[in-house]
Amino acid sequence: MTVYLVGAGPGDPDLLTVKAAGLLARADVVVHDRLADPAIVKLARPEAELIDVGKRPSRPLPQATINALLVHLGRSGRTVVRLKGGDPFVFGRGGEEAMALLDAGVPFEVVPGVTSAVAVPACAGVPVTHRGLSAAVTVVTGHRRVGEEADTDWEALARVGGTLVILMGVGQRAYIAERLRAGGLASDTPVCAVMNGTRPGQRTIRTSLERLGETPIEPPATIVIGAVAGLDLLQTTDGDGAAEGADHTTGPARP
Ligand code: SAH
Repeated sequence: MTVYLVGAGPGDPDLLTVKAAGLLARADVVVHDRLADPAIVKLARPEAELIDVGKRPSRPLPQATINALLVHLGRSGRTVVRLKGGDPFVFGRGGEEAMALLDAGVPFEVVPGVTSAVAVPACAGVPVTHRGLSAAVTVVTGHRRVGEEADTDWEALARVGGTLVILMGVGQRAYIAERLRAGGLASDTPVCAVMNGTRPGQRTIRTSLERLGETPIEPPATIVIGAVAGLDLLQTTDGDGAAEGADHTTGPARP
């Protein structure tokens, strides 16, 4: 009886780890989120029980309920896979689930996944570091929990240099851009937003910090800010690869 906290990667089933695929193939129960790609959930054996704990905005399932469910399932003696997008410990609340299991004395194992913070830009032709352009990457959430915890010090991040990768930042992008500019980041700093990365509907939009707020971006999206966002190593954009507002489809090859 073990609960496996498994990273499912950014969406493309081929980006699952071998370990994750093996566990899915033998799990008795699979607990998954809204973001989990149906093609990945389908890798579970037909007899496996599938539990969707997808946190929809209209009907949020509290984290405490998910934690309690995992403890309960873990104690049932079955092999439980808790499937999480990307890597379980990168903004996935996997740490909280691990703590709940630890407190309850339920054995668990973490299976790291390919995080969208690095893989989604890569699949759009943007390396998060690049010799001579960026020697640091900061991965930060753009989500604001007003009143819950201190707001991110965006002005300080503007001074760090290197690459900023923002997850969950679509709704706050105008605010974030304004604060980064207030912190001294140049208005013409390249920005690349990748929507539905590694999935069939992958779309990349290139813009600048100044125009980020008015650029149409739909979640889920990974937003990259910094010199590397001007690179297009897949050569999917016309011109120099930094054309403002250029919008094109760059989906992964699917059989
Ligand atoms: N644990 C996950 C991140 C969870 S936070 C990981 O390691 O990847 C969820 C955020 O991740 C989304 O709001 C979005 O910013 C980003 N994200 C996840 N999947 C994505 C995808 N396929 N394409 C673009 N961004 C994605």
